[in-house]
Amino acid sequence: MNEQKLKTELLTCLDALLQPGNLLKGSLYKVKKRCGMRYCKVCNSGGAHEVYQFTFTDKAGIKTSTTITNENLPIVEKAWQSYKLFRKNLKRYKNLSEKINDTIRLYEKRHLIDARGMKKTKKSARN
Ligand SMILES: [Zn+2]
Repeated sequence: MNEQKLKTELLTCLDALLQPGNLLKGSLYKVKKRCGMRYCKVCNSGGAHEVYQFTFTDKAGIKTSTTITNENLPIVEKAWQSYKLFRKNLKRYKNLSEKINDTIRLYEKRHLIDARGMKKTKKSARN
């Protein structure tokens, strides 16, 4: 990958990482649950309702699960997707940083000059 492409990719990645929006870490999945209402036709006929559960680890380190209402589902889903994208960009950022560090180290070696034989060459004449 050339330097300009590295630079462009790094900036794109940084832009995304620095404006993450709401992030939600955990797992979102569908489960079947009985509602517990006495006269529910679905549950009384042996069925159950499909609901969304979100499992996450809380600040105290305890694994917790909560039911997501239909009203909150779009917000939860968006933040959950944002979190996955954030992690992906973070990984990409780390890879790009390593590549850039390697390139910078290489440039340092390549551009070091020796004080004993200070000759102006075409490459270093103005540096
Ligand atoms: Zn029910």
